[in-house]
Amino acid sequence: MKPHPLPKTVAPLPDELLSGWLSRLAAANYCDDAELLAHLRIDTAHGTALDFNVDAAAAAKIANAARVNPDVVRSLTFPAMTPREASLTAQMPFQHCMQCAREGLSLRHWRRAWAFDCQVCGTRLVQTLGKLREEQISGKLIYRARRGAEMLECAARSRGPKQLRRAMRAVTFAMSLKTFRGDPSFAVQNPRSEVRLFCLAAIAAARSHPLAKAAIVSKSIDDYARVALLRAFEKEPRLLAAVDHIAQRCARNRSPMTAVSHN
Ligand SMILES: [Zn+2]
Repeated sequence: MKPHPLPKTVAPLPDELLSGWLSRLAAANYCDDAELLAHLRIDTAHGTALDFNVDAAAAAKIANAARVNPDVVRSLTFPAMTPREASLTAQMPFQHCMQCAREGLSLRHWRRAWAFDCQVCGTRLVQTLGKLREEQISGKLIYRARRGAEMLECAARSRGPKQLRRAMRAVTFAMSLKTFRGDPSFAVQNPRSEVRLFCLAAIAAARSHPLAKAAIVSKSIDDYARVALLRAFEKEPRLLAAVDHIAQRCARNRSPMTAVSHN
Protein backbone atom coordinates (compact mmCIF):
# COMPACT_ATOMS: atom_id res chain seq x y z
CA MET A 1 0.00 0.00 0.00
CA LYS A 2 1.38 3.38 -1.02
CA PRO A 3 1.47 6.19 1.52
CA HIS A 4 -0.79 9.13 0.66
CA PRO A 5 0.74 12.04 -1.24
CA LEU A 6 1.84 14.80 1.12
CA PRO A 7 -0.44 17.83 1.47
CA LYS A 8 2.34 20.12 0.30
CA THR A 9 5.22 19.61 -2.11
CA VAL A 10 8.28 21.68 -3.01
CA ALA A 11 10.17 21.70 -6.30
CA PRO A 12 13.79 20.49 -6.15
CA LEU A 13 16.36 23.16 -7.02
CA PRO A 14 19.43 22.77 -9.27
CA ASP A 15 22.23 20.78 -7.57
CA GLU A 16 20.04 20.09 -4.54
CA LEU A 17 20.87 16.90 -2.66
CA LEU A 18 18.12 14.37 -1.99
CA SER A 19 18.50 14.62 1.80
CA GLY A 20 18.28 18.43 1.61
CA TRP A 21 15.17 18.34 -0.53
CA LEU A 22 13.57 15.78 1.84
CA SER A 23 14.27 18.18 4.73
CA ARG A 24 12.55 21.01 2.89
CA LEU A 25 9.67 18.68 2.06
CA ALA A 26 9.38 17.73 5.73
CA ALA A 27 9.45 21.38 6.83
CA ALA A 28 6.76 22.32 4.30
CA ASN A 29 4.57 19.61 5.81
CA TYR A 30 5.30 20.58 9.43
CA CYS A 31 7.27 17.49 10.42
CA ASP A 32 10.94 16.56 10.81
CA ASP A 33 13.10 14.35 8.56
CA ALA A 34 12.67 11.19 10.65
CA GLU A 35 8.89 11.59 10.78
CA LEU A 36 8.73 12.09 7.01
CA LEU A 37 10.83 8.97 6.34
CA ALA A 38 8.68 6.96 8.76
CA HIS A 39 5.53 8.22 7.02
CA LEU A 40 7.00 7.14 3.66
CA ARG A 41 7.88 3.76 5.23
CA ILE A 42 11.53 4.14 4.28
CA ASP A 43 13.69 2.18 6.65
CA THR A 44 16.29 4.79 7.58
CA ALA A 45 16.25 7.63 10.08
CA HIS A 46 18.56 9.90 8.10
CA GLY A 47 18.00 11.20 4.59
CA THR A 48 21.79 11.39 4.09
CA ALA A 49 21.83 7.57 3.80
CA LEU A 50 19.89 7.98 0.52
CA ASP A 51 22.20 10.54 -1.08
CA PHE A 52 24.52 7.98 -2.62
CA ASN A 53 22.05 5.23 -3.31
CA VAL A 54 18.28 5.27 -3.38
CA ASP A 55 16.65 1.99 -4.45
CA ALA A 56 13.75 1.84 -6.90
CA ALA A 57 11.16 1.13 -4.17
CA ALA A 58 12.24 4.09 -2.02
CA ALA A 59 12.43 6.40 -5.06
CA ALA A 60 8.87 5.37 -6.02
CA LYS A 61 7.53 6.03 -2.50
CA ILE A 62 9.16 9.46 -2.34
CA ALA A 63 8.05 10.34 -5.89
CA ASN A 64 4.46 9.38 -5.16
CA ALA A 65 4.33 11.30 -1.89
CA ALA A 66 5.89 14.43 -3.42
CA ARG A 67 4.01 14.11 -6.71
CA VAL A 68 7.13 14.08 -8.90
CA ASN A 69 8.63 11.58 -11.34
CA PRO A 70 10.88 8.89 -9.74
CA ASP A 71 13.63 10.01 -12.17
CA VAL A 72 13.57 13.42 -10.48
CA VAL A 73 14.17 11.72 -7.10
CA ARG A 74 17.08 9.71 -8.50
CA SER A 75 18.58 12.79 -10.16
CA LEU A 76 19.11 14.31 -6.69
CA THR A 77 21.59 11.61 -5.67
CA PHE A 78 25.28 11.48 -6.61
CA PRO A 79 25.96 10.09 -10.08
CA ALA A 80 28.47 7.27 -10.60
CA MET A 81 31.96 8.47 -9.65
CA THR A 82 35.52 7.38 -10.31
CA PRO A 83 37.20 5.91 -7.19
CA ARG A 84 39.30 9.07 -7.01
CA GLU A 85 36.27 11.38 -6.99
CA ALA A 86 34.52 9.08 -4.50
CA SER A 87 37.44 9.28 -2.06
CA LEU A 88 37.10 13.07 -2.10
CA THR A 89 33.31 13.21 -1.74
CA ALA A 90 32.06 13.30 1.83
CA GLN A 91 29.38 10.86 3.00
CA MET A 92 28.14 13.40 5.54
CA PRO A 93 27.90 17.19 5.33
CA PHE A 94 31.14 18.83 6.51
CA GLN A 95 30.74 22.36 5.13
CA HIS A 96 27.94 24.62 3.98
CA CYS A 97 27.12 28.04 2.63
CA MET A 98 25.65 30.12 5.45
CA GLN A 99 23.59 32.13 3.01
CA CYS A 100 21.96 29.17 1.23
CA ALA A 101 21.74 26.99 4.36
CA ARG A 102 19.60 29.68 5.95
CA GLU A 103 17.05 29.04 3.21
CA GLY A 104 17.13 25.33 4.02
CA LEU A 105 19.30 24.34 1.06
CA SER A 106 21.81 21.50 1.05
CA LEU A 107 23.70 21.29 -2.22
CA ARG A 108 25.57 18.46 -3.83
CA HIS A 109 28.79 20.31 -4.66
CA TRP A 110 29.29 21.23 -0.97
CA ARG A 111 30.24 17.59 -0.33
CA ARG A 112 33.23 17.68 -2.64
CA ALA A 113 36.54 18.06 -0.82
CA TRP A 114 37.61 20.65 -3.40
CA ALA A 115 34.46 22.85 -3.12
CA PHE A 116 35.48 26.20 -1.68
CA ASP A 117 32.93 28.82 -2.72
CA CYS A 118 29.20 28.29 -3.11
CA GLN A 119 28.39 27.87 -6.80
CA VAL A 120 24.94 29.38 -6.29
CA CYS A 121 25.70 32.62 -4.46
CA GLY A 122 29.52 32.82 -4.40
CA THR A 123 29.82 32.95 -0.59
CA ARG A 124 32.81 31.06 0.84
CA LEU A 125 31.76 27.73 2.30
CA VAL A 126 32.39 27.31 6.02
CA GLN A 127 33.14 24.14 7.97
CA THR A 128 30.37 22.84 10.18
CA LEU A 129 32.69 22.56 13.22
CA GLY A 130 35.70 24.54 14.21
CA LYS A 131 37.54 26.21 16.99
CA LEU A 132 38.47 29.13 14.79
CA ARG A 133 35.99 31.92 14.41
CA GLU A 134 35.70 33.21 10.87
CA GLU A 135 37.41 36.51 11.68
CA GLN A 136 40.43 34.63 13.11
CA ILE A 137 41.25 33.06 9.76
CA SER A 138 43.85 35.05 7.86
CA GLY A 139 43.16 36.27 4.35
CA LYS A 140 46.45 34.77 3.21
CA LEU A 141 45.49 31.30 4.41
CA ILE A 142 42.12 31.57 2.66
CA TYR A 143 43.79 32.72 -0.55
CA ARG A 144 46.23 29.80 -0.52
CA ALA A 145 43.60 27.27 0.50
CA ARG A 146 41.35 28.38 -2.36
CA ARG A 147 44.22 27.85 -4.83
CA GLY A 148 44.94 24.44 -3.27
CA ALA A 149 41.26 23.50 -3.63
CA GLU A 150 41.39 24.34 -7.35
CA MET A 151 44.46 22.15 -7.74
CA LEU A 152 42.76 19.35 -5.83
CA GLU A 153 39.81 19.46 -8.23
CA CYS A 154 42.15 19.26 -11.23
CA ALA A 155 43.98 16.35 -9.61
CA ALA A 156 40.77 14.49 -8.80
CA ARG A 157 39.52 14.88 -12.35
CA SER A 158 42.81 14.30 -14.17
CA ARG A 159 43.28 11.07 -16.07
CA GLY A 160 46.40 9.81 -14.37
CA PRO A 161 46.95 9.28 -10.63
CA LYS A 162 50.15 11.37 -10.47
CA GLN A 163 48.65 14.79 -9.70
CA LEU A 164 46.48 13.48 -6.89
CA ARG A 165 49.37 11.53 -5.41
CA ARG A 166 51.40 14.74 -5.32
CA ALA A 167 48.52 16.68 -3.73
CA MET A 168 47.96 14.00 -1.09
CA ARG A 169 51.65 13.97 -0.26
CA ALA A 170 51.45 17.67 0.52
CA VAL A 171 48.37 17.00 2.66
CA THR A 172 50.11 14.19 4.55
CA PHE A 173 52.96 16.54 5.24
CA ALA A 174 50.63 19.32 6.43
CA MET A 175 48.86 16.82 8.69
CA SER A 176 52.15 15.95 10.31
CA LEU A 177 52.70 19.59 11.19
CA LYS A 178 49.21 19.87 12.67
CA THR A 179 49.66 16.49 14.41
CA PHE A 180 46.44 15.44 12.79
CA ARG A 181 46.25 11.72 12.20
CA GLY A 182 44.27 9.64 9.75
CA ASP A 183 43.71 9.41 6.05
CA PRO A 184 44.78 12.47 4.00
CA SER A 185 41.58 12.33 1.95
CA PHE A 186 39.60 12.77 5.20
CA ALA A 187 41.76 15.72 6.26
CA VAL A 188 40.57 17.76 3.27
CA GLN A 189 36.96 16.85 4.15
CA ASN A 190 37.46 17.75 7.78
CA PRO A 191 34.61 19.65 9.44
CA ARG A 192 37.23 21.70 11.37
CA SER A 193 38.46 24.62 9.29
CA GLU A 194 41.87 24.73 11.02
CA VAL A 195 42.68 21.30 9.58
CA ARG A 196 41.03 21.59 6.18
CA LEU A 197 42.30 25.06 5.23
CA PHE A 198 45.85 24.26 6.30
CA CYS A 199 45.89 21.03 4.28
CA LEU A 200 44.45 22.73 1.17
CA ALA A 201 46.98 25.55 1.48
CA ALA A 202 49.75 22.92 1.63
CA ILE A 203 48.66 21.59 -1.78
CA ALA A 204 49.21 25.06 -3.25
CA ALA A 205 52.51 25.54 -1.37
CA ALA A 206 53.87 22.18 -2.52
CA ARG A 207 53.25 23.21 -6.10
CA SER A 208 55.54 26.22 -5.89
CA HIS A 209 58.47 24.98 -3.78
CA PRO A 210 57.83 21.37 -2.80
CA LEU A 211 61.25 20.41 -1.49
CA ALA A 212 62.36 23.69 0.02
CA LYS A 213 59.11 24.03 1.97
CA ALA A 214 59.42 20.50 3.26
CA ALA A 215 63.03 21.04 4.25
CA ILE A 216 62.44 24.33 6.02
CA VAL A 217 59.80 22.90 8.27
CA SER A 218 61.57 19.60 8.82
CA LYS A 219 64.42 21.23 10.79
CA SER A 220 62.32 21.86 13.89
CA ILE A 221 59.78 19.10 13.99
CA ASP A 222 59.14 16.51 16.65
CA ASP A 223 59.42 12.74 16.24
CA TYR A 224 55.83 12.24 15.23
CA ALA A 225 56.14 14.82 12.47
CA ARG A 226 59.43 13.28 11.38
CA VAL A 227 57.76 9.88 11.03
CA ALA A 228 54.93 11.50 9.06
CA LEU A 229 57.47 13.17 6.82
CA LEU A 230 59.13 9.83 6.14
CA ARG A 231 55.75 8.32 5.44
CA ALA A 232 54.82 11.15 3.08
CA PHE A 233 57.92 10.53 1.01
CA GLU A 234 58.43 6.81 1.65
CA LYS A 235 57.65 5.78 -1.91
CA GLU A 236 60.07 8.35 -3.24
CA PRO A 237 63.47 7.79 -1.62
CA ARG A 238 65.05 10.24 -4.06
CA LEU A 239 62.77 13.05 -2.88
CA LEU A 240 63.34 12.16 0.76
CA ALA A 241 67.10 12.28 0.23
CA ALA A 242 66.75 15.67 -1.48
CA VAL A 243 64.64 17.03 1.39
CA ASP A 244 67.21 15.83 3.91
CA HIS A 245 70.03 17.34 1.92
CA ILE A 246 68.32 20.75 1.77
CA ALA A 247 67.46 20.55 5.47
CA GLN A 248 71.10 19.89 6.36
CA ARG A 249 72.28 22.73 4.16
CA CYS A 250 69.73 25.09 5.79
CA ALA A 251 70.92 23.97 9.23
CA ARG A 252 74.60 24.52 8.29
CA ASN A 253 73.91 27.98 6.90
CA ARG A 254 72.09 29.00 10.06
CA SER A 255 74.48 27.53 12.57
CA PRO A 256 76.91 30.07 14.14
CA MET A 257 79.46 27.21 14.40
CA THR A 258 79.86 27.27 10.63
CA ALA A 259 80.84 30.92 10.68
CA VAL A 260 83.42 30.26 13.44
CA SER A 261 84.99 27.34 11.59
CA HIS A 262 85.62 29.53 8.57
CA ASN A 263 87.67 32.01 10.58
ZN1 LIG B 1 25.28 29.90 -1.35
